[in-house]
Amino acid sequence: MSQARIPLVAGNWKMHKGPAEARRFAEELLGEFAKDRTGTPVPGHRPDVAVFPPFTSLPAVAQTLRGTAIAYGGQNCHWESKGAFTGEVAPAFLAELGCRYVLVGHSERRTLFGETDETCRKKLLAAVAAGIEPVLCCGETLTEREAGRTFEVLERQLRAALAGLASTASLTIAYEPVWAIGTGRTATPAQAGEAHRFIRNWLVRELSPAAGGRTRLLYGGSVKPDNFGELLRQPDVDGALVGGASLELASFRGIVGAATSYLTGLI
Ligand code: PEP
Repeated sequence: MSQARIPLVAGNWKMHKGPAEARRFAEELLGEFAKDRTGTPVPGHRPDVAVFPPFTSLPAVAQTLRGTAIAYGGQNCHWESKGAFTGEVAPAFLAELGCRYVLVGHSERRTLFGETDETCRKKLLAAVAAGIEPVLCCGETLTEREAGRTFEVLERQLRAALAGLASTASLTIAYEPVWAIGTGRTATPAQAGEAHRFIRNWLVRELSPAAGGRTRLLYGGSVKPDNFGELLRQPDVDGALVGGASLELASFRGIVGAATSYLTGLI
């Protein structure tokens, strides 16, 4: 990763942790990573930390983490601001709770809930309009990788989802090869590095050099404390989107710790 981009370690809790458990866990995270409740970073070189709880747990997490150094966000949003869309949540509702981020196009939403590149584009623009930074998830399936189509898939997902986005918009991208999510099979540092370099070059070319330089690219897919340090050494890997290993304090601490050690080693 580059010294210009502070690494981000983000925990995607998926459909885990109801309100009471989420509050307890957020309190533990606060004690661990941001002891100063005013939000002043604790001394030392720390990565940014964020969590993505289920919608119903967001108020409890917001009450605990709002105004601190730990950010939080929604796992999804709708693109309309209000209306007859039963079961959906508008980006402005997330903003009202103090969400900094929202995930867009996670592979589980694409494969299980019919999300498409086009709905990703609409959600992304709506999130930005509501003042929330989208974390766009992209990545190829195993079949696509084995057919040598990884870059083609990434290009299609990026081109479709980022159409119409201002090059000044704040954006994070999570490269999450579908075959690595929840499988225990992590991309090698070389595989992740190559995909991230492709995404970075695409952003430089198609958005702007400034956007390409500033956008954080997270790797996601079976990140664990013992594999994250190597991944972060890749020049275009700026952090991680972590599923399973973000649910327990010990493993999440280990991943944040790997990023902290990496940052400390840079200076
Ligand atoms: C994810 O949910 O985005 C993810 C990467 O999950 P896991 O870390 O469990 O593979």
